[in-house]
Amino acid sequence: MKAEKIVEKIYKKYQSPMQINRPEKLAISEAGEQCRRRLWLRFRWVIDIWEMVDGRMGRLFARGWKEEKWLSQDLTDIGFVVEQINPITKQPYFVSALEGHLKGVLDGIIKDKKKTYIVEFKTHNDKSFAKLEKEGLEKSKPEHYAQCLLYAYLFSQQYYKVKKTLYVAVNKNNDELYCEWVDNNEKKAEQILSKLEYVKDTTLLPPNFYSQNSYNCKYCEYYEFCWSDKRIMISKNCRACALSAPCHHGQWYCCYKEKIVSPAYKICKDFDPILKEQKEEKNDK
Ligand code: SF4
Ligand code: SF4
Repeated sequence: MKAEKIVEKIYKKYQSPMQINRPEKLAISEAGEQCRRRLWLRFRWVIDIWEMVDGRMGRLFARGWKEEKWLSQDLTDIGFVVEQINPITKQPYFVSALEGHLKGVLDGIIKDKKKTYIVEFKTHNDKSFAKLEKEGLEKSKPEHYAQCLLYAYLFSQQYYKVKKTLYVAVNKNNDELYCEWVDNNEKKAEQILSKLEYVKDTTLLPPNFYSQNSYNCKYCEYYEFCWSDKRIMISKNCRACALSAPCHHGQWYCCYKEKIVSPAYKICKDFDPILKEQKEEKNDK
């Protein structure tokens, strides 16, 4: 086999699952995202970005998952009791909210004497790690901070009260480690939840949050949608239909046919794209 073919085949292995797994829920790992438009476009499956996730990115995600196991073992080796699997359900601990439309799977919990904490593992590149060390989690990585707050808030409601969160970061370039105890903050967690509730319920495309030249937009999968005149392929599925709405148990309801349409992959002949008018607004920019 040719060398370049080997790389291609490995990439392909990571690529295929990413293409078929569209995110069913708003993810707690994305709760800190400031741009409501980005969250809304993902939640409503308006544009099929998943075909754009390449194998290299898929492999990068897989590296993060592997690192979690390693860091968990490190904590165990120094005396913490780490639980990545809920002993009752035999599944990872997960939390949900917003009628099942918001979901997050915890990296784990740790027990130290009689206290329980959430644990969150993250990998960083050199630049991001240096910023984390210099500024701390809340300032340098607000999206990770938001995730920690929400996990602690929802876990305390749905399982039992946790004291705080241990955030553990590793620098992928040199394996340097960073740890920080993150205090619970119910008020901030509720503010994040309100933002996500708005994203869930609105049928209007939220405005751009960042400017075109911002770092956030530059690396956003919707850059072309927001900032270029290139024709964008609008997805056709019930979630991207103006006649649907998120309902209980994380399901979707067709207000026209008066029935549940989850998982909402297939459309009918009455499909009414939710983005059609807003698309015209975009073109006016
Ligand atoms: S390109 Fe920028 S404004 Fe548009 S969705 Fe992404 S982050 Fe938001
Ligand atoms: S009208 Fe058709 S495409 Fe739209 S939500 Fe109902 S079943 Fe789906």
